[in-house]
Amino acid sequence: MLLFCPSCGNGLIVEEGQRCHRFACNTCPYVHNITRKVTNRKYPKLKEVDDVLGGAAAWENVDSTAEPCPKCEHPRAYFMQLQTRSADEPMTTFYKCCNAQCGHRWRD
Ligand SMILES: [Zn+2]
Ligand SMILES: [Zn+2]
Repeated sequence: MLLFCPSCGNGLIVEEGQRCHRFACNTCPYVHNITRKVTNRKYPKLKEVDDVLGGAAAWENVDSTAEPCPKCEHPRAYFMQLQTRSADEPMTTFYKCCNAQCGHRWRD
């Protein structure tokens, strides 16, 4: 993909900026930062679960239930129910796969 400078019409080059790559023009001061979009939505979700539950230690001594893991199909998962937002919203159920090799976490 070749982009052209909007102010002078020359081809833009890609160079390494301070925080990200950017398009820059060789003949005038024009620069345009390339901000990379986060397309993997699974990771922020998992992070959110960790924030709510206080990390892996929160999963010690919790009960397991017959909930199959969507990742490895293990038939059981540890579960916790938490009120994540206001009290009038339903409880959110968090699961963690009982298969130690997998450890996949998800939520209702
Ligand atoms: Zn230019
Ligand atoms: Zn699993």
